[in-house]
Amino acid sequence: MRALGYCCGERLSYTPLALFCCGQAKCIIARDQQYYCYERNSSQFGIIKSEKYVYCNKCFDNLPPEGINLSDNPADAANFIPKEKFQELKNDKIDYEPFEICKTCHRKWHTVCALHYDKVNPEGFHCENCRKEKQMAKPENKFTAKKLPHCVLSRHIEDRVNKYMSKKCGSTLPEGTEVVIRVLCSADKELEVKPLMKKEYCPYGFPEKFPYRSKAIFAFQVVDGVEICFFGLHVQEYGSNCPVPNQRRVYIAYMDSVNLFQPRHIRTDVYHEILLGYLEYARNLGYSMAHIWTCPPGEGDDYIFHCHPQEQKIPNIKRLQNWYKKMLDKGIKEKTVSGYQDIWKQAKDDNLKTPMALPYFQGDFWPNLIEDCIRDAENEEQAKKQAEAEQNDEDGDNDEETYQISDNGKRKKNAPKKKKNFKKAKFSSKKKSPSTRSDVIDKLYSNFEKQKEVDQRPGSTDVFGTHEWPRQVPDESPRKALGVQLAPQSQVQHALLLPRPPRPGL
Ligand SMILES: [Zn+2]
Ligand SMILES: [Zn+2]
Ligand SMILES: [Zn+2]
Repeated sequence: MRALGYCCGERLSYTPLALFCCGQAKCIIARDQQYYCYERNSSQFGIIKSEKYVYCNKCFDNLPPEGINLSDNPADAANFIPKEKFQELKNDKIDYEPFEICKTCHRKWHTVCALHYDKVNPEGFHCENCRKEKQMAKPENKFTAKKLPHCVLSRHIEDRVNKYMSKKCGSTLPEGTEVVIRVLCSADKELEVKPLMKKEYCPYGFPEKFPYRSKAIFAFQVVDGVEICFFGLHVQEYGSNCPVPNQRRVYIAYMDSVNLFQPRHIRTDVYHEILLGYLEYARNLGYSMAHIWTCPPGEGDDYIFHCHPQEQKIPNIKRLQNWYKKMLDKGIKEKTVSGYQDIWKQAKDDNLKTPMALPYFQGDFWPNLIEDCIRDAENEEQAKKQAEAEQNDEDGDNDEETYQISDNGKRKKNAPKKKKNFKKAKFSSKKKSPSTRSDVIDKLYSNFEKQKEVDQRPGSTDVFGTHEWPRQVPDESPRKALGVQLAPQSQVQHALLLPRPPRPGL
């Protein structure tokens, strides 16, 4: 095919993916599964838009006979689509790579082989052969990461990574190979404390809100003059203006990659360099702690990147933790990191006595868990109260009987009531002091321990290749929705950053 002037001669298709069911959150329609779909085309601002309403069999069965209401605004008239208008389909469709047609020779090339995108090159596609023949230069791509402005952070990581690569590979790197780092988003946000935590602990000084800066950092490798995005990192930065316990802490919330970086033998080291570059930057700015949530994704889950090469392996929890530990040990060696430990050990060392002392991050596992602990403690307290009340009633009856016998009925109504009131008063005074609420913190500790047990469980499926890359997610892994048992997950590593070295002359 190539000799005949075409591109690759292969039948290229997109990675088959699961569909998201509209029925309920986290409901997924796996490959080859039956489902129901209603498609509507609407034209707005002259653009024809197609919207698909997709339901799995179970959620479709649960729909009322009148179907679904497509009107988003409750003030508008309802627009019901009855169930019989849905089509029954199977999630087995394969999307093939589309073609571009060369304006000179009219041969078809895959879009991906042509590396053509109308929005970037509106003048149209000319294949390589025709370009060579007619000596047409390749049009310039104005929309590259390299052309985006740098900031201090991107410059810092980029210099570090490229220095590392040339030291490691030197002249063996193909000419023009480089890594481009850019911060694609930097936005000031506010984290709102969850309702139960707010109700229970804000009256005692826990902040209601935490201001932070959210950043999205991406890495690209330039190969044969074309940029390939291979790594993404989402971080949250809680500065010195932020109240404790979050003050001067950074949280690594998401990290993801596709295994396209070359050369492969330094892939892991390059990821480590990016992370250490970030930690070094944070340390230089005066942040004192970094928190990393290590949790491998479930199979088929995709986070920052829309999908991943099928051959990219996912590490188990043990591998992932060791991967981070290796990175942090390098950080200790170069004196960016002074030490690290898991959340359980940290809590013990700090003599953590209240959830108020635990850092509280957006999308993290622990804020949700604290809510659960408070809810459980409250329920238990309620049950205890009820049991006591019942017990009191019984006691009361007994008392009444006693009084009836001993006191001829004189005090029979008042005495037991007083007793109950006294108990109630004791309960409410207990509830008012969070420092004595050992129930919540006990539950939190038992969860720390649970995570520790998970950590110590020997790895069952060891699928992690030596130079593959871990992906991680914060709480609420969609694996829950897949009905797959939540894999051993979650261990927070606390990396203690060393104080900033004094500037010369200061
Ligand atoms: Zn092709
Ligand atoms: Zn469903
Ligand atoms: Zn051509």
